[in-house]
Amino acid sequence: MIELKSAEEIGRMAVTGQFVGELLAELSGLAAVGVNLLDLEQHARHRIKERGAQSCYWDYAPSFGRGPFRNVLCLSVNDAVLHGLPHDYVLRDGDLLSIDMAVSVDGWAADSALSVIVGTPDPADLKLIEATEVALEAAIAAAQPGGRLGDVSAAIGEVAHSYGYRVNGEFGGHGIGRTMHEAPHVANNGRSRRGLKLEPGLTIAIEPWFCGSTDKIRFDDDGWTIRSADGSRTAHSEHTVAITDSGPRVLTRRPADGATSADPSGRSAAAS
Ligand code: MG
Ligand code: MG
Repeated sequence: MIELKSAEEIGRMAVTGQFVGELLAELSGLAAVGVNLLDLEQHARHRIKERGAQSCYWDYAPSFGRGPFRNVLCLSVNDAVLHGLPHDYVLRDGDLLSIDMAVSVDGWAADSALSVIVGTPDPADLKLIEATEVALEAAIAAAQPGGRLGDVSAAIGEVAHSYGYRVNGEFGGHGIGRTMHEAPHVANNGRSRRGLKLEPGLTIAIEPWFCGSTDKIRFDDDGWTIRSADGSRTAHSEHTVAITDSGPRVLTRRPADGATSADPSGRSAAAS
C-alpha cells in the first residue's frame, strides 16, 4: 500500500531531511586521508543521539542481511557500493567513499547518500560520482505530479547509459515516510510514461548507484556489504523527494549543495 502524505507530514519529513543533509555534509567534510571509518560512525551516533533522532538502520534486518544491522551509517569504500559496514579501516589517498544514512525524527524518516573522493581524485572516479549526481538531479526533475514512476527510472537509466555505465536491477530506490522502506520500489532503469502515477503526497528515496564497468554485484561474507562483481569502483547518490502540486521537493538538500552540486570536483577538493 502506498501512503500519500499531507503537506504537514511532508513538512515533518523535511525537518528530518534537513538534519540528514547537515550531518551528511559534516561527514563528507570529515572524511579525509588517515580517518578511520569507525570515527565517522561514532561522530554520526553522537550527532543522532544529540538531536533526539533514531537511526533507521539500527536493528534493520532484511532477508539478505546477516543478523540485525548495528550501525547508523553505511560506509562503502571503492568497489563496495551499498550497505558497507563501518569497520576498522583508515581511509587512504584516492579512496572513493559512499556515505548513506537514514534517520527518523518524531516518527518521520529521511534517507540520503553521497560519494566523495578522499585526497587525490582519479578522473575516472570523479566521472562516476558525477554520473550518479547528474542522474539523481535528472530523476528529481522527472518526478512531476501527473507523471509516472517510469519517468523517474528512465531518467536515471538514460544518464547512466550516456556516461557508458550499466544499471543493476536488483537494488534501487523506495517509498519512505513513517518507515525507511515503503512501497513503491523505484527502479534505476525503466520506461517513461509507465508505472505508478505520481501524485502529490508521494514521498520517495531516489538513489542511483553505478559500477565502473559492470552491472553485476557480489556480497561479502558479512551478508551486508555489496560490491561490484568485477572489483571496479562504484558511486551512489540519494535524496528523499516529495511530489507536490508545484513539482518535486527535495527534503534532504545539503548546506553545500548550492556551491557544489554542479561541480563534483569542487566538493572533493573541499574534502581533501
Ligand atoms: Mg540510503
Ligand atoms: Mg534508500
